[in-house]
Amino acid sequence: MPRQLPWSGFDPFMSAMNQRESHVHPGGGKRAAALIAALIVLAACGDGESPATPVSSTPKIAVSVFPLCNLTERLAGEDFEVQCVLPAGRDAHSYDPTPREVAALEGTDLVVIAGLGLDEWLRQVVNSATSEEVAALELGGLIETREVQAPEAGELEGHHHDHGHSHAAGAPDPHFWLDPRMIAEVLPTLRDTLAALKPEAREGLENRERELQTSLRALHREIADEAQTWTHRNIVTFHGSFGYFADRYNLNVAAVIEPFPGQEPSPRYLASVLSALENIEAPVVFSEPQLEARPARLVAEQSGRQMYELDPLGGTEGRDSYEALIRHNVSVLRRALE
Ligand SMILES: [Zn+2]
Repeated sequence: MPRQLPWSGFDPFMSAMNQRESHVHPGGGKRAAALIAALIVLAACGDGESPATPVSSTPKIAVSVFPLCNLTERLAGEDFEVQCVLPAGRDAHSYDPTPREVAALEGTDLVVIAGLGLDEWLRQVVNSATSEEVAALELGGLIETREVQAPEAGELEGHHHDHGHSHAAGAPDPHFWLDPRMIAEVLPTLRDTLAALKPEAREGLENRERELQTSLRALHREIADEAQTWTHRNIVTFHGSFGYFADRYNLNVAAVIEPFPGQEPSPRYLASVLSALENIEAPVVFSEPQLEARPARLVAEQSGRQMYELDPLGGTEGRDSYEALIRHNVSVLRRALE
């Protein structure tokens, strides 16, 4: 039987559902409903026993990608043990943890993922490490998602992919964390989920969440002011990772170099990017540190553009906090688009 979890009387997911009913969001409601069902199953296993109690004095939380993990760590403070699972420098879409990393996830009480097709691997890995269904919070299920646009899915004029993929046009885009306003929206549910695991930590969680919100608001205002001054609006990113950021700060993802991250684009597709670039006023192309840059270098050379690097994940020196990562990308965009 799964360990007993303190979900009784806990309804941030329900309130998230209610908020979501007013807007059309195919699939999202189903996802949230499945999450609630999973949590109800866990709660039901506790029936007939003494009132739900926290699972341990320091609940253990596993988070997939660095930006979400950094914010979770800062929210959690000393009250929880937070483990960032995806190593810095690795691609979130295709990660396969080592046996040692899997073993380290034993005893996890809560999984926090972006979801939306990005990092569900963490749920499976944690469930196999703990031999039970561990509660999971899919943050992407809490926001109004944007759809992957055709150019981000590699559908340029005259070029269409003939195989399905989670990054297909119209699918929900999982990279919401690159928009500080979106992160601000999911923090209250993350706070409440942690507080349900450890009720005595609630006051500290509330204080730290307020501090994070202040920092995120300042960050957003700073980017919004700065982005207005950029001359160019079109960006050619490595994969479709900067859509939320682009929507928020009035940029346009005109094309991507590697529509399926980790899968080298075909010469035919790269030719279609080069031909599209003849008509796109985009000054540079971008690589990403987690993915092999060669295709971007090729497009840069062939199109006579410079190559810059945007980092969707960070966790490395100088990008070792959520805000530092976003500011790093803003400084790259400043040089690229001014
Ligand atoms: Zn991605």
